[in-house]
Parts: sequence; structure tokens; C-alpha cells
Amino acid sequence: MRLKSIELAGFKSFAKKTQLEFGSAITSVVGPNGSGKSNIAESFRFVLGEQSMKSMRGKRGEDLIWNGSAASPRAGRASVKLVFDNSDRALNLDFDEVSLERVVHRSGINEYMLNGSVVRLRDIAELLSQANIGASGHHIISQGEADRVLTATLIERREMIEDALGLTAYLYKREEAERKLEKTGENMREVEVSRRELTPHLKFLQAQVKKIEESHALRDDVAQKYAEYLKRESVYLRITAALLVDERDEPARLHQELEHKIKHLRDELAKTHGKDAGTQELMRLEEEGRNLRMRRDEISRELGRIEGELRALERLSGAVEESIPAEEARTFAERVLSELEQTLALSEIERLKTKLNALVILAKEFMRRIQSRPEDRAENNKGALAAKKSALEKEMHELGAQEERVRKATEALRRSIESEKDASRDAERELFAAMSRRSELEAVLASLKGREELLSREEENFKRELGEASALAGAAIDYDSPVVRNNSGEAVSDADIADEDRQVQEERRRKLQRLIIKLEEVGTGNHTEVLKEFKETSERDQFLSCELADLNDSAEQLRALIAELTKTLELRFVDGIGKINGEFDKFFKLMFGGGSAMLQTVKEKKLRSSYSKVSADAAELKDEEADEEDIEVEEGVDITISLPHKRVKGLHMLSGGERALTSIALIFAMSQVNPPPFLILDETDAALDEANSRRYGDMVETLAQHSQLIVITHNRETMSRAGILYGVTMGQDGVSKLLSVKFDEALAVAK
Ligand code: ATP
Repeated sequence: MRLKSIELAGFKSFAKKTQLEFGSAITSVVGPNGSGKSNIAESFRFVLGEQSMKSMRGKRGEDLIWNGSAASPRAGRASVKLVFDNSDRALNLDFDEVSLERVVHRSGINEYMLNGSVVRLRDIAELLSQANIGASGHHIISQGEADRVLTATLIERREMIEDALGLTAYLYKREEAERKLEKTGENMREVEVSRRELTPHLKFLQAQVKKIEESHALRDDVAQKYAEYLKRESVYLRITAALLVDERDEPARLHQELEHKIKHLRDELAKTHGKDAGTQELMRLEEEGRNLRMRRDEISRELGRIEGELRALERLSGAVEESIPAEEARTFAERVLSELEQTLALSEIERLKTKLNALVILAKEFMRRIQSRPEDRAENNKGALAAKKSALEKEMHELGAQEERVRKATEALRRSIESEKDASRDAERELFAAMSRRSELEAVLASLKGREELLSREEENFKRELGEASALAGAAIDYDSPVVRNNSGEAVSDADIADEDRQVQEERRRKLQRLIIKLEEVGTGNHTEVLKEFKETSERDQFLSCELADLNDSAEQLRALIAELTKTLELRFVDGIGKINGEFDKFFKLMFGGGSAMLQTVKEKKLRSSYSKVSADAAELKDEEADEEDIEVEEGVDITISLPHKRVKGLHMLSGGERALTSIALIFAMSQVNPPPFLILDETDAALDEANSRRYGDMVETLAQHSQLIVITHNRETMSRAGILYGVTMGQDGVSKLLSVKFDEALAVAK
């Protein structure tokens, strides 16, 4: 890459368009004081994107624009255009010639153009950094600024050296990676907050889903147990019904016969002993006794029924106790409270909605369970039944006393009749026997009737339970197919089923009932809402977790990149310092005719930049830790010199000339190690005596082998090394004018 030309228009004292061409390795600009030479050096800074007005001796953009004079009106804008030969593609653009232009308007607005197209300042900076033309401007040494490299702080000096070594491009990359890492850390924190907010809701839903799954398992279990229970019940009912029909057959027939016989005997007695008091009494007692017995049987059956109903009611109220214990109500209240507290803390509408939705589900579920409390259906009947029961028991008791009376009277009568040996009493004796036998049969039949009624109640229960079971399963229950097995897994025969103690089946029913209550507790309702909510919430959680993993990955990559860049920078820096030291010492010895000079890296404390706070796990960052850790030790660069024949060691002890020599040695060393495409030296040689001017001239020529040099000078020796000489003059009009001069002319112009 080679500088071709620079063109100034309206820039400072260059009111008119002025072009300098750089056809030689060394170009010298000469002219009297105040003619505008330094303005040319500053025009370079300007076009290369300098942002510091101070370094261009201005306060605002306007100061850079031709301000007018009596002879020439002020300009509206200043522009500088720099043209490079880019045939070697040192600038990463596919053009043989690259032009860079910057314009500043009186409004203060700046424009940058690359080959005529408007670009951002950043684009210019990046492009130039590739070609070792860094922002610190180490390649433009302004007037009086030669010892800037000596006065700079340790860290500023390090930055100048990094720039000179061409490390700026890496620094740019590292800064960008650090910015990205910081942003990634922020994103991670945000995602983690979202995830943390989601967690309680997700846990709640997980518990709900677990309950739903349990309820499904329970429902299957209940359905299966219910089917087996119903099968047993149906077998029992069928066999018992048939058994009762059989059992009734014989006593019913005998009873019928006895009824005929008794009727016949009564008729006989009525004919023969019609008016006999004993006979009359016998008939009456028989009638009364029979009525009492029938009533008692009836009551006994009624009591049986009432007791059955009461037992059923007790079972239901027992279920109430089990269904909503106080503990659970409290858990519910606590749950609602904590959800509400979390909800209050939310700001996002969507999250608020999600939370409220969860609360609605929770409340609905609780309502459903409260409404299904069986006590509401059952409790009212209980009192009425108990009252009826005690009335019947009282009546039963009275009937017992009456029966006893009738029995005694009958017995007395029987004995008196038997004592009469009179054959005429045979019929009465026979009637007694028949009555007694009939009594026995009627007791048998009454007990059968009791069992029949029980059976029919059991049949009704069976139908009801069948209905319930079907409702629970959501389909008709197939109670016929299941094979009933005992504990050892063997099939049980119908006869054995019917033979089983009813208590066992009753216990089975109770267990089943408990399972059903449990099932009602966990809820058999429609769970799609909860399942949908769970699916969505866990998907969102999954998404956030993936996002977090991705962010973590990119943070990892960025950290690796930063580490790699840091390592590269470190290596190149150490290597560069070594090389600069070699040159520095050489140039120093040359300038001072001996002695030694060296750069040294030293550690300095500095505030840590914020990127490094993004630790591996951003969530674990605690603010309190920041204070102490924000101090970072950074490496700066110090200069150690030793003059020949003098015991001077500190830079501050040097004379003005010695300072100039030292800085020139260092600047030239830096340029020698990593030559910039061009180097502008504005009166860097001002303080040199004749002998040193010659050495300076030699060094300039050495540097010119690798970099184009533009030297602004009053020094004859320096001028003599230039291939092209420009003279700058300024007339009464205050406008700088440029002319190409020969060496001899130059000496005259420079005066
Ligand atoms: P020396 O040899 O003394 O260093 P020089 O040749 O480097 O001098 P400069 O410092 O480049 O001179 O030029 C300064 C001149 O430029 C001054 O006369 C100043 O008035 C003029 N100048 C600076 N800015 C403007 C401006 N915006 N409009 C007009 N003239 C300006």
C-alpha cells in the first residue's frame, strides 16, 4: 500500500483546493512559521477519522473550516481526501486505488466516504486497522508531540505500543467479544428470571398431573374390583333366590294343608261344641295369637329394613369424614395464598394470566369436591328412621308381653282340655296340634319372607351399585365376564361364592367404597385443561432451558475466543516488546553514541471493565462481591535508560534535546519493528544540533525503506534527504499556498 495523494479543500488555512502528491519515499514540507504546514499534518489525522478536536488544535468542527479573510469569504465545509494505491490489497478492498474522504460541515456534521460511497466511521477504523494505521495515531507525530511517548502514562504507552505493533485489530475483536459476552450474560439472567418465575407454577402443575395419573390408575383399579364385586354379588343373588324358592316349597305346601285341616276341625267343633265356652275361648285365642304373630313378623321385617337403611346412612356419613379433612382445607388455603403472593409480584400480563388461570383451576377443583359431599344427600333421613325404629321396638316389646299372655292362656286351656278324658274333646286336641304345627310352619315361612325381602333389598342395591359403577367407569360395567379368583389365584366356583359369609362381601364393599371416596378426592372430572396447561408450561420451560443452554454455549465460545485473543495479544506483545527493545537500544546508542535503553512491562492497578464480571454462571453473581474484585492489575510499559558517561537514569532528568533524542529513538524503533505504511513527522527534529540532525537524517532514510515519510521541517539536513519538496507560503489573504520546490529553493522558502 502506498500513499498517492492528499487533497485539502476549505480545510483550515487551505481555502482553495490543494493537492499534495507523494511520488517519493520521503516528502518534505517546508515553509515559514504559521504558513500552514502543521495544518497538512492535521489534515491527515482528520481524514483518518480523528475524533479528538484538541489533537487538531480546534474546539469544534467549525474550527477546521476555512474561516475567511478580507480577500476570501469563509467556506461552508472542509474536506480532505486521501488516495492510496492498493494494488497489494493491504486494505481489504478489491480496488487498486482506494480513496478516503471526510467532510465536516459548519453544523458540525461529519461524513465519511470510501471510494465515493458514504460509510460509517467504524468502517473506516476497521479498514485502516488492518493496514496498521491505528487510531492512536502513532504514525503521525505532531509538532512538539515527539515526547508524547515519554510523557504518556504507563498504560497509555502500552496502548501506543499495541497500536504500533498492529494489535489494534485484535483489540477491536476482543472488545466486541466482550460486549457480546456481557449482552449474553444479561440475556442469561433474564431467561433465568423467567424460568424461576415459572418454576412454582410448573411444580404445581406437575403435582396435579401426578394426581391425575394416580386417579387414572385408581379408576382402573376400582373398575376392576367393582366388576369382581358385582360378579360375586350377582352370583350370590341368583343362587340365593333359587334356594329360597326351593326352601319355601315344602313348608308352603304343608301350611296350605294345615290351613284346610284347621278349617275343617273348626267347622266340626262349631257343629258339636258350638256353645261350649272352652271351644269359644280356643277359637279366640287361636285368632288373637295368630294376629299377634303376624304383626310381630311384620315389625321384625320392618326393623330389618330400617336397620339396613341406617347402616347405609352411617356408611355415607363416615365417608364425609374421610372426604375433606381439615388438613386438606388448610393446605388448599395456603396454596392459594402463596400463589396469590407470587401473582402480586408479577408485572407481565401474560404471566399474570397464567397464574390466575392456575388459581381458577385450583378453586374449581376444591368447589367440585365440596359440592360432592355425600352428607348433604344423606343426613336428613337419619332422624326420621331412628324415631320409627324406636317406635317399632316399643311395639314389639308390647306384642311380646301380649303373646306371652296368650301363650299362657292357651297352655292353661290345653291342659284343662287334656285333663278331660272325654273323647268328645279329641277334635279340640287335634286342633291344638294342628295350630301348633301351623305356628311352627308360619315361623319358618316368616323367616323365609324376611330372607326374601332382604334378598330383594340386596337386588335393589345391586342395581344401584351397577349404575354407580357404570357412571364411574363411564361405560356399562361388564360384571359377567370376570373370573373370580381367591388369594392363591384359583378360580372360585359359583357355589362357593354363594356360600361365602356375607360379612366378607360386606368388607369387600366397604373397601371398595373407601377406594371410590379416594377416587372422588383426586377427582375424576375433566382434566384436559390441566394437562393442556401442563404441556404448554413445560414446553415453555423446556424452551427457556434450551435457550439458556444455547446462551451458555455462546458465552463459552466467547470466553474461549477472548482467552485466545488475549493469549495472541500477550504473545505478540511480548514478542513485539522484545523486538522494539532491540531497535530502541540500537537507535539510542546511535543517537547518544553509547548508553542503553529498554522498555519494561510493569503492573498497574486499574478498574476492571464490566465484561469480566460475567462469570460462568451468571445467576450466581452477587453484587456485594463486586467492590474488591473490580480492581484489576494491568500491565503498562515503562522506559529505562542509561546515558553514556552520565549517571542520569530517570526520564525527568533529561535535557530538552536528550528527551527529543530518546523519543525519536523509541518512535523510530516502534516504526522499524512494524512499519506503518506512512509516517508523518512534524518538526520532530526541531531540537537537534547539527551532529544529531545528521543521525536523524540517516534514521529517516532507514525508516523510508519500509514506510513513506512526510517530514515537516526547518532543518536543512532533513530537507536534503527528501525526494519531493513542497513549499508552503501564506500571503496577506491568510490562504496557504503550496508549491513544488527544488532543494535550493526550499531553503529560501523555509525562511
Ligand atoms: P510553524 O512553522 O510555526 O509551526 P506552521 O506552518 O506549522 O507554522 P500552522 O500551524 O500549520 O503553521 O498554521 C497555522 C495557521 O493556520 C495560522 O495562521 C492560523 O491562523 C491558520 N488557520 C488555522 N485554522 C484556520 C481556519 N479555520 N481558517 C483560516 N485559517 C486558519
